[in-house]
Amino acid sequence: MDLEKQISDTDNIGNDHIGTSTHTPLRNDAFDLSDIEKIASIKKDVHNIMQTLGLDLTDDSLKGTPNRVAKMFVQELFGGLHPDRKPKASTFENKYKYGEMLVEKNITLYSTCEHHLLPIVGKAHIAYISNGTVVGLSKMNRIVDYYAKRPQVQERLTMQIVKELQSVLNTEDVACVIDAKHLCVNSRGIRDIDSSTVTSEYGGKFKDAETRRDFLDYIQLNTDFEGV
Ligand SMILES: [Zn+2]
Repeated sequence: MDLEKQISDTDNIGNDHIGTSTHTPLRNDAFDLSDIEKIASIKKDVHNIMQTLGLDLTDDSLKGTPNRVAKMFVQELFGGLHPDRKPKASTFENKYKYGEMLVEKNITLYSTCEHHLLPIVGKAHIAYISNGTVVGLSKMNRIVDYYAKRPQVQERLTMQIVKELQSVLNTEDVACVIDAKHLCVNSRGIRDIDSSTVTSEYGGKFKDAETRRDFLDYIQLNTDFEGV
């Protein structure tokens, strides 16, 4: 296969942004290297990319970039790959016997498209109906942030958030809607700056049309992203 064909073939696989599994595809040896070892290795790779592009890495403005990018990948943008960073599950007994839907809306979400390694920016909206257990509100933000900090497909991210909350809250009655812009669509390729992608996952009672309608009424989905 010639080089040009190889490049165009691999390009087509991820371009449709179709996710195939709930699990982030990690290898068994994913955490054999420590974070520090990963940063050292990625630093060399970023250096190589910049070098190949013809950039002068002795320039004051560029020389710190490989180290900066490597740290950012391992500790920030993709920090949610490491199970040690998963938010601890602290739940409380539902003392008030509040049996209605609880909605946490407009959770700011920053993730990274796994097909282009470009940002996904948007809002997540979560709802659950307690069966006796509740979580602190900030816990939901932290769960969103943990799964967002991975190379992601928006559909998978939505499902991972729901599954995690179902297990923490010990109920199927959890829903999540994500409305996000993908910079790979907005800034390159088709360059559509106005489009956003909406994904949803409904568990348990949220499969029921009326409950789902209530949730959607609460969040009044607004796809207008002023300033995003
Ligand atoms: Zn993409």
